[in-house]
Amino acid sequence: MKAWTIDKPNSIMLQEIKENEKPINNAKIKITLASLTTFDAKAFKGDLAGIQYPFIPGRHAVGIISEIDENNSYGLLRGQRVIIDPNISCNNCYACKTHRQWECEKMKIMGVSSEGLIRDFASVPITNLYQIPQQISDIEAQFIEHTSIAVKTFNELKVNEGEHIVIIGASVLGIIIAQLALYYQAVPIIIDLHQDKLDIASNLGIYYTINSSVNDPYERIKQITGGRNCECSVFLANSNEKIQKAFDYASVGGKVAIVGWDYTAEIMNGNMSGILSKQLTVIGINNGQKQIPAAINMLAKKAVDVTPFISKEIKFEEADKGIKDFSQNPLMYHKIFIKI
Ligand SMILES: [Zn+2]
Repeated sequence: MKAWTIDKPNSIMLQEIKENEKPINNAKIKITLASLTTFDAKAFKGDLAGIQYPFIPGRHAVGIISEIDENNSYGLLRGQRVIIDPNISCNNCYACKTHRQWECEKMKIMGVSSEGLIRDFASVPITNLYQIPQQISDIEAQFIEHTSIAVKTFNELKVNEGEHIVIIGASVLGIIIAQLALYYQAVPIIIDLHQDKLDIASNLGIYYTINSSVNDPYERIKQITGGRNCECSVFLANSNEKIQKAFDYASVGGKVAIVGWDYTAEIMNGNMSGILSKQLTVIGINNGQKQIPAAINMLAKKAVDVTPFISKEIKFEEADKGIKDFSQNPLMYHKIFIKI
């Protein structure tokens, strides 16, 4: 097996990995398409504290099952095309033992705190594999995890039709959340400092976009909502905005979701008094593990369009050049796709 390994900041090499004995509940997957994310580019550059080197990057991948116990209780068979859920629960903590794996206290994430997927073959727990229908291409499937987190955000916020939902951060995840808002007939308002990201949202039919480097979102939101503010507020942990804004834009009795992966959260200090004065409900969301089947369904029926995020595709042998390019031009790509 071959894998790209970041051994220290700004250094990546293709290594031969010894195949360990496959655990009984694992399947062997031939990876066919994987992707590099902003996280990988930052980790390569040495910009993320707490990363343990060496590590194999890549949190998202699609592959074909090459070896599996065909008596598995999930009906998965050799030759099937699957998406790999990168969240690995421990199966041993209280949450896991009470069948709430998505709240696992010792959750590991492939490509972050466990080996990643920029590799030719991977041994993966069978419970982390999901068949994907033919309506979803390999590239579209690279966005299933984002979509699952977006679905969870909606489930947790219990957004009603016609309600306003402000999304702070027009990242890939932020824009997918806004698309789900349209799907569920809520009214999304998306805020970012970068006009090009807001333009992507506009082109996808998100009517209210606010460039916070040009306009004061607070005043604009008051106008849009008739002075009430937003029933739901979503703060993307990597938005580079102040957490306090999520409380400022919420209505009295509103709900606030803080969404992202733990490692994307900058220091989120801010004035928290709005939580009390407005009696807000605050929810933290860092994975959408339970919602992956729903996310697959959303992508298959095109409720979420990821076309604007599809850009550069490179060969496996060029992954080193790809990650260097990404780290030097972080605003140029949403992801870089690697054909394996
Ligand atoms: Zn656990």
